[in-house]
Amino acid sequence: MKKFVLFLYLIFNIIAHAEITNYKANSGFIKINSNNFLILRSFKQDNQNYLLVANVDTLETKIVKNSFLIDTNISKLFNSTLFNMLNKYNIQTQNSYQNSGLKNSSQNCDGYFLTVDMCPSNKYGFEKEFFEKLLEYKNIAICLTKKWAIQHKNEFEWLKKMQQEKKLNITWVNHSTNHFYDKTLPFEKNFLLHDKENFLNEIFETEKFMIENGLIPSLFFRFPGLVSDSEVIDKLKALYLLPLGANSWLAKGEKPTLGSIILVHGNLNEPKGIKLCNQFLDSVRPKLLKLNDIR
Ligand SMILES: [Zn+2]
Repeated sequence: MKKFVLFLYLIFNIIAHAEITNYKANSGFIKINSNNFLILRSFKQDNQNYLLVANVDTLETKIVKNSFLIDTNISKLFNSTLFNMLNKYNIQTQNSYQNSGLKNSSQNCDGYFLTVDMCPSNKYGFEKEFFEKLLEYKNIAICLTKKWAIQHKNEFEWLKKMQQEKKLNITWVNHSTNHFYDKTLPFEKNFLLHDKENFLNEIFETEKFMIENGLIPSLFFRFPGLVSDSEVIDKLKALYLLPLGANSWLAKGEKPTLGSIILVHGNLNEPKGIKLCNQFLDSVRPKLLKLNDIR
């Protein structure tokens, strides 16, 4: 029995970590059970061809075998979708270097969207107590940099485990691969704007890393430092990703209201935000909503 369990474990690990090749941006629609799915990426893993797809009406993403009839006439189905509605909303809010994209729900809602950034950090460990507190709230979005996950393997594994065991319902948001930052540089030369040539790598390396770890990348992307310009926003839109801002970055003193996208850091780099979030959770006992349910 022990040998069998070990065998299963090894097989699982091989499947979970099989390297991805031929990772490409793709385009087109497929129909699954009469729902329309936008094709985001195509790739190869274990000699199988796969697609990363998104339901344009629910924003749910998933990975499917590439065995569907692909309809390349996107415009036919695209205009009326929720994805398109959010995309337009994003364009309208893009007027400065910081915080373009979705910042809050545009409709009345009865809860809040909590986003926890995991930027690269030299700190050992992470905000474990805070994450443990979130187990009773379930819905959170984690904005992940590959660099943090590589440097904090045990902590990353713990988060994955919480999701596998359904103790947390995590929406995985890409937060770039390296998250370049130099405190001496102005916004227009900092973060992802520092090296626009590498933009695709900054997106794709983290998406691939998530998939190789058994996670499904969502449609959302959080710009490092929330810093972007019209050029990178256009590049992001061409990859069918939605920029995720925040109207309540707690450590900056921005107070949440119903429908807010709340931003804190779970990497030990911003204890003030975690303290304020703990106070908010304890005093308001808020309902935390799934990011895919934002409207
Ligand atoms: Zn960050």
